[in-house]
Amino acid sequence: MTSTPTMTETSPIPDLTVNDRCDRCGVDSFGRGISQAFVRVRLSSGHLLDFCGNHARRNMPALVAQGAEVLDCTDRINEKASQSSN
Ligand SMILES: [Zn+2]
Repeated sequence: MTSTPTMTETSPIPDLTVNDRCDRCGVDSFGRGISQAFVRVRLSSGHLLDFCGNHARRNMPALVAQGAEVLDCTDRINEKASQSSN
């Protein structure tokens, strides 16, 4: 079990919205991010990084090893794709 240490003074990671884009996919010629971000990471420095599912999987292990916090919203990928089920 992972029990968090007593450093609970930090505020929650801001929630992701549909307007957030992956920081690693880059931007198109209009300056808009290409892929919607589904995972947000807060580094120990407080800096926020947003990732698409693909880049999250690639970068997450290293970031978590550095003490980053992770807000995982990848379940929303399925929400968006399964509009007609249930
Ligand atoms: Zn990406």
